Amino acid sequence: MKFLNFRQEGSTHLGAMLGESHVLDLSAVWPAEPVPMSVEALILAGDVALETARQLLQQYQGRQDGAAVHSYTALEILPPADPQGRNIFNVGRNYREHIIEGNLANGRPADAFPVAIEFFTKPRTALVAHGGQVLRHAGLTNSLDYEVELAIVIGRGGRDIPVADALDHVFGYTILNDITARDLQRLHGQWFKGKSLDTSCPLGPVVVHASAIADPDALMLELEVDGELRQRDSTASMIFSIATIVSSLSEGMALLPGDVIATGTPKGVGFAMRPQRCLQAGQTISARIEGIGELVNTVVD
Ligand code: MG
Repeated sequence: MKFLNFRQEGSTHLGAMLGESHVLDLSAVWPAEPVPMSVEALILAGDVALETARQLLQQYQGRQDGAAVHSYTALEILPPADPQGRNIFNVGRNYREHIIEGNLANGRPADAFPVAIEFFTKPRTALVAHGGQVLRHAGLTNSLDYEVELAIVIGRGGRDIPVADALDHVFGYTILNDITARDLQRLHGQWFKGKSLDTSCPLGPVVVHASAIADPDALMLELEVDGELRQRDSTASMIFSIATIVSSLSEGMALLPGDVIATGTPKGVGFAMRPQRCLQAGQTISARIEGIGELVNTVVD
């Protein structure tokens, strides 16, 4: 099951993919009150609502027409996260070869690896949907960069979640492009400012339910700029696994339904290239993850 938010006559609706090319408007066909109007609302409504969604998808399987069935490409997709929720959580350096490239670019010893997970956050005001525009912020930064990342969406909240139980707290997975102004990241010491400019958090297009992902620690992910492959690796290259990340972040700090946790990016970012190849206005960024889909955004002045 792949869930998404889209705009319909001025309001947010909850949709689900019917195959590759069509979307069922779950909000329009929901059989009982209260009607979930977003992915967040579905998560908060719990297992009974999820079962209702599953039955509706079975009922509409194969349909490509009707008032509640839309062509995916015709829809205005919204980020699959509540804009009013708390900050997006992010894991910093987590892929071995990306850490080495970053160390070399920053004049550090190549093999200086983190001993604990590096967490930071991005405000939800930075969210952008699939198909949306990423601002170049040319007056502020000379080194706007991309980072494809697998993002966890929390289903059941909790604190001090053991590693062995951590995946039971995951609702599903989506794609996050952790757009970063490298010069601001360095200038301000702490990463927050350089990671938080408006439009620096493309997310989506769908949240794939965890039941459809056999092993989140073995997914291929890749990113292209104008069709040129820049990043390609597997989540199997992560130092800290999905379960370890959820468990670690929840230590002494409650996770809530709908929380989003991005898990770090593999090698191939623009600032580590020689010469550096950071983002320019007019470029198109395509971030893909196996089993989830493709998140496409354009950079504009
Ligand atoms: Mg990142």
